[in-house]
Amino acid sequence: MAPLLAGTEKLMLTGRLRDDDATKAKAGMDFGGIVDRRPAAVVEPCDADDIAEIVRFATDRGIRVSARGRGHSTHGQSLVDGGIVIDMSALAAVHRVELGYAVVDAGATWRTVLEATLPRGLTPPVLTDFLDLSVGGTLSLGGIGGTSHRYGAQTDNVIALEVVTGAGERLTCSRASNAELFRAVLAGLGQCAIVTQATVALVPAPTHVRRRIVAYPDAVSLNAAQRTLVEDRRCDYVEGLIVQDGQGGWLHNLEAVSFAADADVVVGDGVVLETMTMSYFDFVNRLGDEETFLSGLMHKVQPRPWCTVYVPGDDVDAVVDASLARPQSEVGSLGMFLVYPIPRSALSTPLLRVPDDETMFQFSVFRYAEPADAAAVKSMLAANRDMYAQAQAVGGTLYPFASVVLDRDGWEAHWGNQWEMLRSAKTVYDPKGVLGSGQGIF
Ligand SMILES: Cc1cc2nc3c(=O)[nH]c(=O)nc-3n(C[C@H](O)[C@H](O)[C@H](O)COP(=O)(O)OP(=O)(O)OC[C@H]3O[C@@H](n4cnc5c(N)ncnc54)[C@H](O)[C@@H]3O)c2cc1C
Repeated sequence: MAPLLAGTEKLMLTGRLRDDDATKAKAGMDFGGIVDRRPAAVVEPCDADDIAEIVRFATDRGIRVSARGRGHSTHGQSLVDGGIVIDMSALAAVHRVELGYAVVDAGATWRTVLEATLPRGLTPPVLTDFLDLSVGGTLSLGGIGGTSHRYGAQTDNVIALEVVTGAGERLTCSRASNAELFRAVLAGLGQCAIVTQATVALVPAPTHVRRRIVAYPDAVSLNAAQRTLVEDRRCDYVEGLIVQDGQGGWLHNLEAVSFAADADVVVGDGVVLETMTMSYFDFVNRLGDEETFLSGLMHKVQPRPWCTVYVPGDDVDAVVDASLARPQSEVGSLGMFLVYPIPRSALSTPLLRVPDDETMFQFSVFRYAEPADAAAVKSMLAANRDMYAQAQAVGGTLYPFASVVLDRDGWEAHWGNQWEMLRSAKTVYDPKGVLGSGQGIF
């Protein structure tokens, strides 16, 4: 046992504490494959009491703790060097599904949630493009998807939370009770508490959807078309994908979906490449599960220095064009971009930092470097910094699962007028500063 963890034999855990090399190596890496931070141990909790016990143990000794959902951040956000990782995938049950809500463990994936709600004809209103992300992980970030133009972020659709604070205290919170804690946890990057359970809103699920893929000549017309679709409320789901054409250029494709299976989305002057009816589950699961996603699209290639920014609608064309004009080697041969609009009014989570513009766009880049190509990783990380700087220069913000490192000033700028709120909540709920060190904020 590492000296740091002397005394763990006295812990009253129902779950397991593991410190074998294989477990620590796995918990030391994330989806990005860039940062390696080995923990001293990994805890697989059986329940929230286990989490409270381990957090109190760590707080007493000044050991840092990190909740790991599915480890799908890209730059070490869920990792902790020499500390304790809490593997939230061990707490992954769906406890109740009622007409308008479900009570789920934070380590459950959105796939698990959906599998429990769909037989009742219900769905979370916003799903991430990839379903195998944890509820706690995306609620710590925001959780944005193709229905966000209508329903906001996943964090906007949370009714209540059960958490363990950095002081090891088990608390519940909602808009009406412990509201300050609720605000500090949603999109709060795990700084004040570990979410153990969430009550998330549900809406009726369509059985089938009508999906169209529509081509546009450039990013400007793609963005204009998406904006019109959203403003006119002409579709239920919208995302724009910019992919390589194999000849050094780009294809600009709109994915516009109606949740009424017999109603095609009217898309204006784009060229319709494909129209299909599919089941709602097949649609939201179109990237497949972890294994299909990684092998099917050859996404096994790591490192993956991904980046997402939010850009004011008036400036999105310039920011997107600046990225598209750069060498394709900066995204790698599998690389692509995602861009889609979200009205500001749909979002209400204070710590989800987005521009103030009435319509803003999410803009993501998925970069893939060859494993041994350190120079490529360096240039991709530099490209991410430039992308964020360009967004920031026009009032844009960062989605902090990205491979972009911020210093203290950078974080303060990121949180803007919410910085004092987060800082003061941190003092109250995680006074010893043991939680969320992978983000490098405090
Ligand atoms: C393939 C892929 C597709 C994606 N698609 C989308 C998308 O469509 N929309 C979108 O918004 N994002 C998307 N993301 C980004 C995603 O939201 C983040 O990577 C998120 O962090 C992943 O969740 P996770 O469970 O893996 O969290 P982790 O990476 O494990 O954790 C993320 C952060 O949250 C903290 N955390 C984790 N669990 C808890 C908890 N229970 N309580 C408190 N803090 C916790 C961690 O310590 C860490 O700081 C995607 C990422 C990938 C890799």
